[in-house]
Amino acid sequence: PDIATLTLADATNEAAALRDQLNQWRREYYTEDAPSVTDAEYDQRYQRLLAIEGRFPELVVPDSPTQQVGDVVSPDFTKVPHAVPMLSMGDVFSLEELGEFDARLRKTTDQDFDYNVELKIDGLSLSLVYTDGELTQASTRGNGQVGEDVTVNARQIADIPQKLSRPLTLEVRGECYMPKAAFAELNAEREAQGLDNFANPRNAAAGSLRQLDPQVTKRRQLATFIYTLMDVDQFGVTRQDEAIAFMADLGFATNPSSEVHHDVTTLADYIERYTAQRDGLSYGIDGIVLKVNDLALQQAMGNTVKVPRWEIAYKFPPEEAATVVRDIEWTV
Ligand code: NAD
Repeated sequence: PDIATLTLADATNEAAALRDQLNQWRREYYTEDAPSVTDAEYDQRYQRLLAIEGRFPELVVPDSPTQQVGDVVSPDFTKVPHAVPMLSMGDVFSLEELGEFDARLRKTTDQDFDYNVELKIDGLSLSLVYTDGELTQASTRGNGQVGEDVTVNARQIADIPQKLSRPLTLEVRGECYMPKAAFAELNAEREAQGLDNFANPRNAAAGSLRQLDPQVTKRRQLATFIYTLMDVDQFGVTRQDEAIAFMADLGFATNPSSEVHHDVTTLADYIERYTAQRDGLSYGIDGIVLKVNDLALQQAMGNTVKVPRWEIAYKFPPEEAATVVRDIEWTV
């Protein structure tokens, strides 16, 4: 039914049912690395819950999935508190919604601004801390406030520098992913051993990074794209495109596809180009990310409890490969 015509009683029931369903899917996805539904199906129910809560704000409760950053913290790992929370991201599903996001954001500031547009890598977020240029800690996002210590595993990921090109003390964040070829190899191997396939490269990456034996992580051939530099002021870095170049210079793997755009109208072309190239890329992407390029303006815009206000993901429509679920054979 149309949200505009819902009664409060109906909305209350539907919101409760949606919360239960989504929370069950989240457990399967985050805790078990084994989703039973596609991301598109999850996203659709999630958007419905958001819309109901938007119309009836009194229905927002702390255990709603709209109020929580996804992942759980496994008791198998040492906990790492994040000095700055690692958040989720808002998403839109059409160019029209992207235009609405842009118009809303521009109304909140007098300042003109550009976006740095990046590919949305389908993996899981990773924080890396360096002390005097040496890798000293790696952690997952966890519940956003507290993550899992995966330092020994991160030391087995080939493209994570153990030592930076300069002896700096800093934190960066980015995406840890499993390249498509490694994913196909892993599932072929698992099949030969009579084990369940991983549903998709994202779940395989999460299961491979969060391993008690770092040698398993090593064999899984994970890779990274690093996109966030923390505490930028000390480096005199003022823009996101500059931060990416700075991190590439230090030795991090950065994604080469980002571009600075002023207007969202020019993004149709970027989206078209990467939709066409998507299958040919060696890693999975599930959309694009727009970030206000000016880092001071990002700070000023701030966050909600769950998402930064200065960035948004545009999600691609689901493609066949993305709809593969557990127990269905992966075909490349
Ligand atoms: P998200 O994955 O949609 O977006 C946020 C994340 O994007 C960030 O944390 C970061 O790790 C990542 N990212 C990739 N490229 C990036 C870039 N260039 N810049 C910044 N960040 C980048 O949000 P989420 O909270 O991690 O997960 C929610 C999503 O997970 C849902 O929208 C759904 O698609 C999926 N999910 C699916 C199920 C299921 O059962 N199928 C269950 C739960 C969640």
